[in-house]
Amino acid sequence: MSDCLFCRIGAGEIPAEVVLETETTLAFRDITPHARVHVLVIPREHHDSLAGLAEVDAQGAADLAVVAGQVAQQEGIAESGYRVISNVGPDSGQEVPHVHLHVLGGERLGPLVQPAQR
Ligand code: 5GP
Ligand code: ZN
Repeated sequence: MSDCLFCRIGAGEIPAEVVLETETTLAFRDITPHARVHVLVIPREHHDSLAGLAEVDAQGAADLAVVAGQVAQQEGIAESGYRVISNVGPDSGQEVPHVHLHVLGGERLGPLVQPAQR
Protein backbone atom coordinates (compact mmCIF):
# COMPACT_ATOMS: atom_id res chain seq x y z
CA MET A 1 0.00 0.00 0.00
CA SER A 2 1.95 2.96 -1.30
CA ASP A 3 0.01 5.51 0.77
CA CYS A 4 0.46 3.63 4.07
CA LEU A 5 2.86 5.36 6.47
CA PHE A 6 4.25 2.15 7.97
CA CYS A 7 4.59 0.46 4.56
CA ARG A 8 6.70 3.45 3.57
CA ILE A 9 8.79 3.27 6.77
CA GLY A 10 9.19 -0.50 6.21
CA ALA A 11 10.41 0.16 2.67
CA GLY A 12 12.88 2.80 3.90
CA GLU A 13 11.07 5.61 2.06
CA ILE A 14 10.38 7.53 5.29
CA PRO A 15 13.12 7.72 7.91
CA ALA A 16 12.70 6.20 11.34
CA GLU A 17 15.01 5.39 14.24
CA VAL A 18 15.31 1.68 13.59
CA VAL A 19 16.36 -0.47 16.55
CA LEU A 20 16.02 -3.96 15.04
CA GLU A 21 15.46 -5.39 11.57
CA THR A 22 14.65 -8.88 10.37
CA GLU A 23 13.70 -10.21 6.95
CA THR A 24 10.00 -9.91 7.77
CA THR A 25 9.84 -7.18 10.42
CA LEU A 26 11.11 -3.76 11.40
CA ALA A 27 11.28 -2.23 14.90
CA PHE A 28 11.64 1.53 15.31
CA ARG A 29 11.09 4.18 17.98
CA ASP A 30 7.66 5.79 18.22
CA ILE A 31 7.82 9.43 17.15
CA THR A 32 5.72 10.44 20.21
CA PRO A 33 6.90 8.12 22.99
CA HIS A 34 4.43 7.28 25.75
CA ALA A 35 7.14 5.77 27.97
CA ARG A 36 10.94 5.94 28.26
CA VAL A 37 11.08 3.00 25.91
CA HIS A 38 8.43 3.00 23.18
CA VAL A 39 9.21 0.93 20.12
CA LEU A 40 6.85 -0.13 17.32
CA VAL A 41 7.24 -3.54 15.68
CA ILE A 42 5.74 -3.94 12.21
CA PRO A 43 5.64 -6.61 9.54
CA ARG A 44 7.16 -5.32 6.31
CA GLU A 45 4.05 -6.56 4.48
CA HIS A 46 0.83 -4.64 4.90
CA HIS A 47 -1.89 -6.16 7.10
CA ASP A 48 -4.63 -4.23 8.88
CA SER A 49 -4.62 -6.14 12.15
CA LEU A 50 -2.77 -8.77 14.14
CA ALA A 51 -5.63 -11.24 13.68
CA GLY A 52 -5.71 -10.52 9.94
CA LEU A 53 -1.98 -11.20 9.72
CA ALA A 54 -2.22 -14.37 11.83
CA GLU A 55 -5.05 -15.74 9.61
CA VAL A 56 -2.96 -15.62 6.46
CA ASP A 57 0.57 -15.85 7.87
CA ALA A 58 0.81 -17.42 11.33
CA GLN A 59 4.62 -17.36 11.18
CA GLY A 60 4.52 -13.63 10.38
CA ALA A 61 2.42 -12.98 13.49
CA ALA A 62 4.79 -15.10 15.57
CA ASP A 63 7.74 -13.14 14.15
CA LEU A 64 6.24 -9.94 15.58
CA ALA A 65 6.00 -11.47 19.07
CA VAL A 66 9.56 -12.80 18.90
CA VAL A 67 10.93 -9.45 17.76
CA ALA A 68 8.99 -7.65 20.53
CA GLY A 69 10.85 -9.86 23.02
CA GLN A 70 14.18 -9.22 21.30
CA VAL A 71 13.54 -5.46 21.43
CA ALA A 72 12.83 -5.73 25.17
CA GLN A 73 16.13 -7.59 25.65
CA GLN A 74 18.04 -5.10 23.56
CA GLU A 75 16.47 -2.09 25.32
CA GLY A 76 17.29 -3.59 28.74
CA ILE A 77 13.68 -3.87 29.91
CA ALA A 78 13.13 -7.63 29.69
CA GLU A 79 13.81 -8.07 33.42
CA SER A 80 12.17 -4.85 34.69
CA GLY A 81 9.05 -5.59 32.65
CA TYR A 82 7.24 -4.15 29.71
CA ARG A 83 3.88 -4.03 27.95
CA VAL A 84 2.96 -5.09 24.43
CA ILE A 85 -0.13 -3.49 22.92
CA SER A 86 -1.80 -3.72 19.52
CA ASN A 87 -4.65 -1.31 18.83
CA VAL A 88 -7.38 -2.38 16.42
CA GLY A 89 -10.10 -0.06 15.13
CA PRO A 90 -11.77 3.17 16.25
CA ASP A 91 -12.49 2.41 19.93
CA SER A 92 -8.81 1.55 20.47
CA GLY A 93 -7.70 4.85 18.96
CA GLN A 94 -5.69 3.09 16.24
CA GLU A 95 -4.11 5.80 14.09
CA VAL A 96 -2.10 3.80 11.58
CA PRO A 97 -3.98 0.95 9.86
CA HIS A 98 -0.89 -1.24 9.42
CA VAL A 99 -0.50 -3.86 12.15
CA HIS A 100 2.05 -2.93 14.79
CA LEU A 101 2.96 -3.90 18.31
CA HIS A 102 3.79 -1.15 20.79
CA VAL A 103 6.59 -2.23 23.16
CA LEU A 104 6.49 0.03 26.21
CA GLY A 105 8.66 0.08 29.32
CA GLY A 106 11.66 1.58 31.04
CA GLU A 107 9.54 2.93 33.90
CA ARG A 108 6.44 2.03 35.92
CA LEU A 109 3.61 2.03 33.41
CA GLY A 110 0.19 3.36 34.36
CA PRO A 111 -3.02 1.34 34.38
CA LEU A 112 -3.73 -0.77 31.32
CA VAL A 113 -6.50 1.61 30.23
CA GLN A 114 -7.86 4.89 31.53
CA PRO A 115 -11.26 4.56 33.22
CA ALA A 116 -13.95 4.96 30.56
CA GLN A 117 -15.42 8.47 30.16
CA ARG A 118 -19.14 7.70 29.97
P1 5GP B 1 -1.73 3.42 16.91
O1 5GP B 1 -2.47 4.55 17.55
O2 5GP B 1 -2.12 3.24 15.47
O3 5GP B 1 -1.78 2.13 17.69
O4 5GP B 1 -0.18 3.82 16.95
C1 5GP B 1 0.45 4.54 15.95
C2 5GP B 1 1.72 5.07 16.54
O5 5GP B 1 2.55 5.53 15.48
C3 5GP B 1 1.52 6.27 17.49
O6 5GP B 1 2.01 5.95 18.79
C4 5GP B 1 2.32 7.40 16.82
O7 5GP B 1 3.01 8.21 17.75
C5 5GP B 1 3.27 6.66 15.91
N1 5GP B 1 3.64 7.40 14.71
C6 5GP B 1 2.81 8.11 13.91
N2 5GP B 1 3.50 8.63 12.87
C7 5GP B 1 4.78 8.22 13.02
C8 5GP B 1 5.97 8.43 12.26
O8 5GP B 1 5.99 9.09 11.21
N3 5GP B 1 7.12 7.87 12.73
C9 5GP B 1 7.15 7.11 13.87
N4 5GP B 1 8.32 6.63 14.24
N5 5GP B 1 6.04 6.90 14.62
C10 5GP B 1 4.88 7.43 14.19
ZN1 ZN C 1 1.01 -0.64 5.38
